Amino acid sequence: MIQLHDLKFEPYISEEEIEGAVAKIASRLNADYKDQNPIFIGVLNGSFMFASEVIKRFKGDCEVSFVKMGSYEGTSTTGTVKTLVGLNQKVEGRKVVILEDIVDTGNTLEEINKILEAEKVADYKVATLFFKPEAYKKSLHIEYIGIQIPDKFIVGYGLDYDGLGRNLTQVYKRKE
Ligand code: 5GP
Ligand code: MG
Ligand code: MG
Repeated sequence: MIQLHDLKFEPYISEEEIEGAVAKIASRLNADYKDQNPIFIGVLNGSFMFASEVIKRFKGDCEVSFVKMGSYEGTSTTGTVKTLVGLNQKVEGRKVVILEDIVDTGNTLEEINKILEAEKVADYKVATLFFKPEAYKKSLHIEYIGIQIPDKFIVGYGLDYDGLGRNLTQVYKRKE
């Protein structure tokens, strides 16, 4: 068990399980995008570790960019997604793959969808390491899903609780 700020967390998803999920997504991306020169767009802050691990495994040409979105305060979503750092790269006509740490309500994805529609990308797909199907309220299709989890608050592997926990190499869930 670990403590971050005022909350206790217990081990939930091991490094091995995470690595297996990352490797599966990476191998599908290699199959689908090897000769497509995709642009990978990581959604900061949470996706930095997942983005790095997936992109390291990609074998073809690719470009890498990031946007920074925020909606969470503490352990719950505020419902309003802010674009903190926008897309500063031309993506018109390109194949884009969004890399997310976790999709929860889908509010963040919807906001990213708006940005990409306005940019006239050729095609874009979403890859997320974690997905909470019970919390997802949108209809946007998520092509690559690593691990589905129940509607619980997790930290580690890029995900934080009020700034802490991003460096943890396994995932912990909030102890009830
Ligand atoms: P959504 O917009 O889909 O509701 O939430 C997306 C963002 O909320 C994620 O990218 C992540 O930053 C944050 N988030 C959602 N669920 C969790 C969670 O269980 N733990 C942490 N640390 N952040 C979460
Ligand atoms: Mg995220
Ligand atoms: Mg956060």
